[in-house]
Amino acid sequence: MSSLPATLTVDLGALARNYHTLEALTGRPVNPVVKADGYGLGAIAVAKRLMAEGARTFFVARAAEGVILRDALGAEPTIYVLDGAHGENVGLIRAANLRPVLNQPVQVENWLSSGGGACGLQIDTAMNRLGYRVENAPEPFEGLELVMTHLACADEPSNPLNRQQRDAFDAVSQKYPGVTRSFANSGGCFLGEDFGFDVVRPGICLYGGGPEGKPHDKIAPVATLTAQVMQVRDVPVGETVGYSQGFKVETPVTVATCGAGYADGVLRSYSPKGQVWINGGLRPIIGRVSMDVLAVDVTGLDVKAGDSVEIFGTNRNIDEAATAAGTISYELLTSITPRVPRLYVG
Ligand SMILES: *Cc1c(COP(=O)(O)O)cnc(C)c1O
Repeated sequence: MSSLPATLTVDLGALARNYHTLEALTGRPVNPVVKADGYGLGAIAVAKRLMAEGARTFFVARAAEGVILRDALGAEPTIYVLDGAHGENVGLIRAANLRPVLNQPVQVENWLSSGGGACGLQIDTAMNRLGYRVENAPEPFEGLELVMTHLACADEPSNPLNRQQRDAFDAVSQKYPGVTRSFANSGGCFLGEDFGFDVVRPGICLYGGGPEGKPHDKIAPVATLTAQVMQVRDVPVGETVGYSQGFKVETPVTVATCGAGYADGVLRSYSPKGQVWINGGLRPIIGRVSMDVLAVDVTGLDVKAGDSVEIFGTNRNIDEAATAAGTISYELLTSITPRVPRLYVG
């Protein structure tokens, strides 16, 4: 029995609904973040659909991601590169008419001395990651179109740091009258009216992850990762399943071997707590996830080769799958490897 490969089904209709949900919730233009190949879903397909829904400004991390998007989307949309303008990528940025988000003095100098032009500026209000410290924020300069900062704890609505960052950003952005202000990522979109500023900048909630790392009733699942059962066997007491005897059989068990493994992006950390949706219910992953296959306890179920199992998606919420695997939805999505075909529906 040959099996279909593990497949990532991307519901573009659900993506569109999440986009409009965030637009309605914030009352602000939504500028989607489509870095890391659209969080693994396929940046071109995702951005094209979001453009059809009205999006005109996108964010990527790397200049090379922006170049791919520019080719696919044509000249119209604005594309910001969060990495900014360091020496090597200025040529790419200029050739593809991208806008760097400048985050330190050397980048501003680089950009201005290479001809300047439309760009953004990142102010660091808590993360100590990228951007100017508030007290070092530069004077306004020619070409500055966007000023932004990034929330450190947007997934914790009651964390007082959120408002401190909001107030710090509000104060520093007074320096740049007429420049578009961008503050909120996905979690920030849910913090309330005064966290919206001019445009919002969500990623994960567009793709079906909840703003607090758990399912949210306003956010629709977008990505569904499925695999096929390849073989079903009964295993008697005393035997083991998988590498390193990862699962010891203590009562007779029926095992379904499914065609998805860590080389598809099903992290090894899915075991021992991971579960998959099969035949209308959740069943545990048993033993170690291996490169190409994983084992599921299907005892008592009517399961046969060719049946489909869902690792996350419409039936098994991605945040719950991520929690079971000891990680976050972002990592589950961006871990899905190129050998997994993306199937677009909706
Ligand atoms: C990734 C990223 C975002 C999007 O964050 P989500 O939590 O996925 O909404 C927004 N802004 C910056 C600077 C980012 O790096």
